[in-house]
This record gives sequence, C-alpha cells and structure tokens, in this order.
Amino acid sequence: MTQSHCIRSGRVYVVNLPVEEIHSHGSGDVVAIKSVILELTSDTGITGWGEASPWPVFTGTVEANVSALQDFFIPAIVGRNVFDVEAMLVEAESRVVHCWEAKAALETALLDIQGKALDLPIHDLLGGCHRDKVALSFSVANPDFQQDKAKIKRLFEDGVRIFKLKTGFNGHEFDLMRVQWLRERYADQVDLRIDYNQGMSAHEALPRLRDFESFRLSFIEQPVPRDNLEAMAHFTNVLNTPIMADESVFTPREALVGAQMRVADIYSLKIMKSGGLRRALQVAAIAKAAGIGVYGGCMFETGIAHLAGAHLMAALPELTLGCEFYMATYYATEDILVEPYPVKNGYVHIPGGPGLGMEVDRAKLEHYAQ
Ligand SMILES: [Mg+2]
Repeated sequence: MTQSHCIRSGRVYVVNLPVEEIHSHGSGDVVAIKSVILELTSDTGITGWGEASPWPVFTGTVEANVSALQDFFIPAIVGRNVFDVEAMLVEAESRVVHCWEAKAALETALLDIQGKALDLPIHDLLGGCHRDKVALSFSVANPDFQQDKAKIKRLFEDGVRIFKLKTGFNGHEFDLMRVQWLRERYADQVDLRIDYNQGMSAHEALPRLRDFESFRLSFIEQPVPRDNLEAMAHFTNVLNTPIMADESVFTPREALVGAQMRVADIYSLKIMKSGGLRRALQVAAIAKAAGIGVYGGCMFETGIAHLAGAHLMAALPELTLGCEFYMATYYATEDILVEPYPVKNGYVHIPGGPGLGMEVDRAKLEHYAQ
C-alpha cells in the first residue's frame, strides 16, 4: 500500500520577473511577469511547487489569487493526503469562485509531491506520455517592430518556426504590414498565426479578418470580446482560416457551450483558465468529441507553470499546433528554475524526472519575491 503523504504546510510568494521588452495586446500591455508561487510541504519532507499566473484583464488579479491560496485553500488542505487531489479540487471550487489560477497552483503542487513520492513525472499521473517534445510558438508583440525583427531572427536561428503576432493594439495596417513582412521574409519556413486578445468589435472585425485569408495563417485567435459567442461562431462559419477561442473558453462547461455553438475550430488550453491540468484534460476531451482542435496556451508565467503546461501537453492524446511556453526562455530576463526551462531547437522537451521534473532555485525565488 502507498505510504501516506499529508500536507504539513503551505507558503505563498509573489514574484516579479523583469522581461526583455514590452508585449502589447488587444487588451493591454505587459511589462513584467508578476506571478504567485505556491510551496507545499508534506509531513514526509517532500516539497511541491505550483504557480498561479493572473492577468487582471484576462483571468484575475494577483491579490485575489494570493487570498484564495492563503486564506482558503492552504488552511483547508493541511493534514490531508496529497493523493486526494480530486476531492481537494472539488472543495476548492466550492469554496472560492473563479481564481482558476490559484486552483491550478494548488493542483500542480499536489501533483508535484505525488510524482516525487512515486518517482514518476506528472504526465504519468495523467495517463502517460503521448509525445516527448512540442513545437514552440513565440508571440510577436513588441510595439517596436524593428526590435521584434531582430528577436525573430535570433529565435529563427535557434530553430523556432512558429510565430504568433499579437494584433489589434496599433491599427489594422500595422498588423497587415507585420504579417506580410514575415511571410515574405521567411516564406513557408514559418507557421504564422494572429491573436487579437478580444481587441476588435464585431462590426469592424470581418473585413479585417478577410484581409488575412491569403497569408495562410494556421489560425486567428479571439478576435472579439469573450462573451460575443455569436460573432465567434459566425467567423468560424464564414472564414477559411481556422478560428481559435482563448478568452471565450475557460472551463469544461464553457467548452461544451462553445462546442454546441461552434464558436471555434480550435481551443487554446491553459491551466490558468481551466483551473488546473485535470480540468484542462476535460476541456480537451470535450473538444475532441466535438471535432475541435486544441493548442498549448499560457499566461505570463515562470518556468514552474510552464513545466506544468509541458506535462499537460505530454498527456494530450492529440496536439498538432504546438505550444507557447516561451516566457522562461525568451521573455523573462531570468527564470526561477535551477536549470534552464527545456527548450531546444524550437521545441519544448518534456521533462522525465519525478513530479515537475525540475528544481526551483530558492535563491532566485527569494530574490524576485516581493
Ligand atoms: Mg490568446
């Protein structure tokens, strides 16, 4: 019988990592990675790490997620067996609405302890490994496109072949110019996508989206505000380029409604939207049943949440569009893992060690903690 591992204590850190450049989006600018790190310790001396990465204009605030963890979740799990993860998640969902990022952090830290206790990587706790690497997408989002050209060149030399342009923050002509430049400069050597982050109103969107049909984009992501499901469904119906839902689909329930209304051809999976890896797998199962593709999305995260995302990607039965876990490698000036997040030749390589598979650097964590 498996040895019992009960939660002894939990601690919350807020880190603020400097980044290489501003990233602009249809819903606002990002100038740092401000994230909530959860450390859980078992009575058997095992440490588990999790991360909540909120963005106020998208998912929620740092303050709300700190409170969810400190005031609600940690007191409720002290003394509980780490293998009762589903029971603890259901309880967390009943105690606090929203704060999906805090629920993801809680689950990640519990799975990290489980994996270390069993000497298994987290993807083995989720059903096993379907792939050992995932193609990496970088988001082109610098308002200074000259700087982005230099960065794209650097990443292309590193083997990165997927570029997602953030659109809708500086006018349609700027968006068209950047996509055209990339397609002409790199031809079909690169896979291009665009993401509006809800940046257009429905009445202005369709003619602009039609202007991109000739650029052979892999998808157009979230052109209009999340609640406008009818407009999303209309774009999915009339455009040749696939439509991706990001802000419109957080939870399994929203995935079901989205499938019924056909709001997208693809869903962006994010543990910070679904409330963890297991709920993201539920979103993926609904998507698969409905014939909707999935993609590995992320928020503004450190290597800890990226590792959780990598294990989720490994456990997905079907994944063809890659993932965007680039922050720890190509955005933060320094990450908080001991070893660099495993990106090589344009791919995220799935860690095979126990739990998350990599160690957190306590000195860096303390340095960047407020
Ligand atoms: Mg997005």
